[in-house]
Amino acid sequence: MSITLDVLQKNLIEVEKEITMACERSGRKREDVQLVAVSKTKPIEDIQKAHELGLTIFGENKPQEIRDKVQGLGNKEYTWHMIGNLQKNKIKYIVPKCTYIHSVDSYDLAFAIDKASAKHNVVTNILLQVNVSGEASKSGFTKKEVIDVLPMLAKLEHVQVKGLMTMAPYTDDETLIRTTFRNLKEIFIDIHSKNIDNITMEELSMGMTNDYTLAIEEGATLIRVGSGLFGERQYL
Ligand SMILES: *Cc1c(COP(=O)(O)O)cnc(C)c1O
Repeated sequence: MSITLDVLQKNLIEVEKEITMACERSGRKREDVQLVAVSKTKPIEDIQKAHELGLTIFGENKPQEIRDKVQGLGNKEYTWHMIGNLQKNKIKYIVPKCTYIHSVDSYDLAFAIDKASAKHNVVTNILLQVNVSGEASKSGFTKKEVIDVLPMLAKLEHVQVKGLMTMAPYTDDETLIRTTFRNLKEIFIDIHSKNIDNITMEELSMGMTNDYTLAIEEGATLIRVGSGLFGERQYL
């Protein structure tokens, strides 16, 4: 089922309003927060409509789906971000199509992305996923692991570490969500202050439909909004 342009536009206006208000509440500039439209499971027509409304960055979590969508839409006017769990044998589907991979959770994965990127003579921007909340169901580095792995990541020439990503626990408890985001920001500042060559801390990817306003207040630069724009997903 495809979304109508009207409904999508209405959703986008609402999300934009929320982003603007969250920026105002936290004294941030609107242009410091980028909206990643999470289009996973949604048809190409929905992505085209979103593009007509001015959205350019699309987030997907399945490598083959990215391959197919890029085949349909290209990657000139559309920017693709991989946001989901990535297996090494599927990197070939998304390098060099994705300019950002948000979900790098091991050195081995970064190493494999580096090799694939070298083959295409590109540099792939990566974010390190941190499991701040420590939930067993979530992937990502622990705080200690992420700090320890940086010197090795810094040596890879075809990946550029640009920042960190996390997913908040699935809960109504705003305090818990906020604490998760705040902890990620602290790790971000900590790494930034180490001034490691080839490691830049520019992007903080946090916040989804249910919690992106909190994420903006806590410093997110990339928010990943899916159902709030495109409507509920149906998994077949
Ligand atoms: C699906 C997904 C999102 C978007 O979720 P919504 O709740 O629909 O906004 C964001 N981030 C990741 C990693 C996802 O897998």
